[in-house]
Amino acid sequence: QDFRETLEINPLSTNEHIEPHRICVCVRKRPLNKQETNKKEIDVVSVPGKGTLLVHEPKQKVDLTKYLENQTFHFDYSFNETATNDLVYKFTAKPLVHSIFEGGMATCFAYGQTGSGKTHTMGGDFTGRQQNSAKGIYALAAQDVFAYLNHRRYANLDLSAYVSFFEIYNGKVYDLLNKKAKLRVLEDDRQQVQVVGLEEVYVSSAEEVIKMIQQGSACRTSGQTSANANSSRSHAILQIALRRNDRATTLHGKFSLIDLAGNERGTDVSSNDRATLVETAEINRSLLALKECIRSLGMNSDHIPFRMSTLTKVLRDSFVGEKSKTCMIAMVSPGMTSCEYTMNTLRYADRVKELNGKSKITREAKAQEPINSSTEEESVVDTSVYD
Ligand code: ADP
Ligand code: MG
Repeated sequence: QDFRETLEINPLSTNEHIEPHRICVCVRKRPLNKQETNKKEIDVVSVPGKGTLLVHEPKQKVDLTKYLENQTFHFDYSFNETATNDLVYKFTAKPLVHSIFEGGMATCFAYGQTGSGKTHTMGGDFTGRQQNSAKGIYALAAQDVFAYLNHRRYANLDLSAYVSFFEIYNGKVYDLLNKKAKLRVLEDDRQQVQVVGLEEVYVSSAEEVIKMIQQGSACRTSGQTSANANSSRSHAILQIALRRNDRATTLHGKFSLIDLAGNERGTDVSSNDRATLVETAEINRSLLALKECIRSLGMNSDHIPFRMSTLTKVLRDSFVGEKSKTCMIAMVSPGMTSCEYTMNTLRYADRVKELNGKSKITREAKAQEPINSSTEEESVVDTSVYD
């Protein structure tokens, strides 16, 4: 079975979509940018294909001679610097669109240090910074949601799409579709979490969603007060909810797409600024909580530690239930000076993946069996073939 064929077929034709794992962990390497090239920054990350990623980590011997140590990581998919947003989307979020129409809860996270490509991947050029770049996962997912909605296969479900877009900064929720109004998060005695007053706007086309993303993203960056880039210190969450056109507008499925806060402060202890330390502690808490919640989802655990952070609280529904699916895209910068952050990101992603019991068993079994080309192809993608 040719992988490329699988990609090109209509996602709506029966049983031929890519059935996503419950937890999918991918990694994407961005290209070196102009400044880095000018500064003769060394590219220490390579993607030999097949879900593999190598880091050539600079090390020093006792006698001070320097050398590069190779470290290999394995993920569901690995994308090199030539991969487009379209390609990344096809293997990560696209299969999840299918699952929300099947009545599931789906989440797609972009994780990594500031500058590694999270917003490029999720928002594309809708941040307004990059004029001619490709659409991001937000817009691509919105387009597919409407392709499904307009398809006769789902017509009898009688569904409509609704969008909300908000930011979590320092544990507080701000509505990006309503002038950054600060909102409260409440939990009732049945563990149902509600963001009180969050705008949920009915949308009738992908273009409408894209416009809202543009406006929300602009609201996100213009709200910066300090020199600190606020947007890299906050999580941005776009939710597309499918609701039945009944009186109660019953929830059918929901897709949460998340541009996480930069994870770099985890190791940066040089700052003494109190506000920054509080900010950092909050980001660390939420990223730790996220890892724990995905782990519980992967283990089918009854106990989901969603109360650990505001981020996991508002995403509670995504971590419970049989039909919940998650995809994490770990973003890495290629440069040698980012190596420490890159390693941190990869270790985190590796932890998330390892906790997924199923994928571990598959790996062990694979190691003992002779490699069969058809099963190989199902689990890998070499992005270089799409150049
Ligand atoms: P983050 O949101 O993780 O802080 P950004 O998405 O803002 O990072 O990316 C930082 C810069 O690198 C931006 O100028 C962005 O356009 C560029 N960039 C990121 N990923 C890619 C990529 N895969 N291809 C080309 N440019 C990229
Ligand atoms: Mg960003």
